[in-house]
Amino acid sequence: MAKQPLILTKDLSKSYFSSAVIETAVLHDVDLIIEDGEFVSIMGPSGSGKSTLMHILGFLDTATKGTYTYKGRKMRDMKEDELALIRATEVSFVFQSFNLLSRATVLENTLLPLLYHPTIPPGEREERARKAIDSVGLSHRADYKTNQLSGGEQQRTAISRALVTKPEIIFADEPTGNLDSKSGQQVMSILQRLHKDGHTVILVTHERKTAEHAERIIHIMDGEIDSDSRDFKRVIARKEATLR
Ligand code: ADP
Ligand code: MG
Repeated sequence: MAKQPLILTKDLSKSYFSSAVIETAVLHDVDLIIEDGEFVSIMGPSGSGKSTLMHILGFLDTATKGTYTYKGRKMRDMKEDELALIRATEVSFVFQSFNLLSRATVLENTLLPLLYHPTIPPGEREERARKAIDSVGLSHRADYKTNQLSGGEQQRTAISRALVTKPEIIFADEPTGNLDSKSGQQVMSILQRLHKDGHTVILVTHERKTAEHAERIIHIMDGEIDSDSRDFKRVIARKEATLR
């Protein structure tokens, strides 16, 4: 059997209902394939549905129509324990606002996803966490509370927390949005390195400059995919083939 794509959506749509009669349609029939190991940017203006799409792909929310198939399994068919396992071991998030525990240290924040981890034994957790902290260049800050850190250091702590479980996919939603350009560049370099190390990285941003760090840019407008650079590559490859 052919290998299943990591992420496959078909006619994925999402509406929010603020009451039984008021529907806000946010995503419309999104068809998307993302393969294992890709570095993809989902780019579009504010309000275009980027975060909504990311939340569905990351198992934080569900679609109202269409299907989301993850590694060949329809999300709709997954039982709660399967979803819980995916959330705990296969996906991680980095948010614009860091979402750290401000009175806990860098080490404590990084240990958090390991506390309920089903397979990483307690005896290995601190070493894993310290390695993750080291990989984002924060060893000298391990025992600082995160409210004592700069924005860039806080975001690198969030990345350390995201990578400590060695997840399949790291989702980053406007990760540089609250950072100065130098710290933003550091964060993007770390995401590029994580991709090189084999993680799938899905970046959400409204900034072209940030999006261009990825190998592939999916443009979203008013909840629809407007363009996908992967398709352009395919079109070019097909043209080249016919010219040969
Ligand atoms: P983006 O991340 O591209 O800025 P979002 O996915 O956050 O866009 O939001 C897309 C649209 O959906 C916006 O119009 C937003 O107001 C609306 N929206 C987002 N979350 C909710 C919600 N929980 N309830 C109602 N509307 C929402
Ligand atoms: Mg958003």
